[in-house]
Amino acid sequence: MPTICRDCYESFERPGRCPACRSPRTLSHPEILTLGIAHIDCDAFYASVEKRDDPTLADRPVIIGGGRRGVVSTACYVARIRGVRSAMPMFKALALCPEAVVIPPRMETYVAVSRQIRTLMEEATPLVEPLSLDEAFLDLRGTQRLHRAPPAITLARLIARIRSETGIDASAGLSHNKFLAKIASDLDKPRGYSVVGEAETDTFLAPRPVSTIWGVGAATQKKLIADGFRTIADLRRADEADLTARYGAMGRRLAALARGEDARLVTRNAAMKSISAETTFDEDIRDRETLEAHLWRLAVRVADRAKARTLAGRRVTVKVRTADFRALTRQSALTSPTQLADRIFTTGRALLGLILSQGPFRLVGVGISDLLPEGEGDDASADLLDSQAGARARAERASDRIRARFGADSIAKGRSIR
Ligand SMILES: [Mg+2]
Repeated sequence: MPTICRDCYESFERPGRCPACRSPRTLSHPEILTLGIAHIDCDAFYASVEKRDDPTLADRPVIIGGGRRGVVSTACYVARIRGVRSAMPMFKALALCPEAVVIPPRMETYVAVSRQIRTLMEEATPLVEPLSLDEAFLDLRGTQRLHRAPPAITLARLIARIRSETGIDASAGLSHNKFLAKIASDLDKPRGYSVVGEAETDTFLAPRPVSTIWGVGAATQKKLIADGFRTIADLRRADEADLTARYGAMGRRLAALARGEDARLVTRNAAMKSISAETTFDEDIRDRETLEAHLWRLAVRVADRAKARTLAGRRVTVKVRTADFRALTRQSALTSPTQLADRIFTTGRALLGLILSQGPFRLVGVGISDLLPEGEGDDASADLLDSQAGARARAERASDRIRARFGADSIAKGRSIR
């Protein structure tokens, strides 16, 4: 069976240790030499950057988040073993893991590392589609001649290079489309590398829960289970017309993805209309502080994705769903486009305040729209109503520029600028 070595990048026919370097880190799959759609996802990204920059944290449980708005943003793997998860309220996380080191996010550093990783990805293929600061799709088909190696080996080299040049571990998935590549990268974290071939697509997907499907969040999953669709096999047994009648366009999408069909191309910058994030709660929430804590976490996620895509938005929208399932939205146009979590949050908090009396809510979401490429005219030109926001934005841009000029070694220098 075709096999590659993750350490010396040889390929050979017999599974087991690498005959060239004796490494046990080999990967065998019947289709490994022909698949070319990859998904790369850094492992506990924010926490990994903090551990890299402070080696005394290496074996300690690290939680990114906290501050005034107490929700976990990222937990390292040591903290995850103790049950800490992202989106968990900080008091709960600290009850599970009292000795955790809590660090407020340093977004500008994460953005700089992300851009460094992006550059490495773009040396592997021009077709890189970032999903967030620490995640991207890569189309490696057609790079064989350039790298004199099949995509699977180029991907192994890239992951190793990300580790050696940025100090960050990442996991990879390799398959024949985006949907499956993304599932694959999550199979064996951290430092995973998983392959899903065409021939095994059906058997691979069948037993998995419907929540495996991209876009099926907690609320949709609940609904699907109530309708008798627990696994992907359940969805596949239903016919497409039935799913479309029940769930509209989403039903059609569910039917296709349940069969492992996903024709979406890897594109450098998809024509995005908006970037948003939302969360559904286990229990309805009325409390302002708790809602704002979630809003902050979601604003960080939106900002993170906007920065990854080098986009900024001129409009902020807040969405809630009430306990009796009514959807309410409020939006606000900004004086200048933004991609900063702080500004998205501040605007979103004011919008949330307008509808707070209609709570409790079962869902809250925030997004930006009217998107433009980032650049002059956005946050860098300051928000007239909040001079501090302008100062923070300028500091962020300045440290990004320094890193771009002087590279990774300037990161410590860049930090002191804050
Ligand atoms: Mg990640």
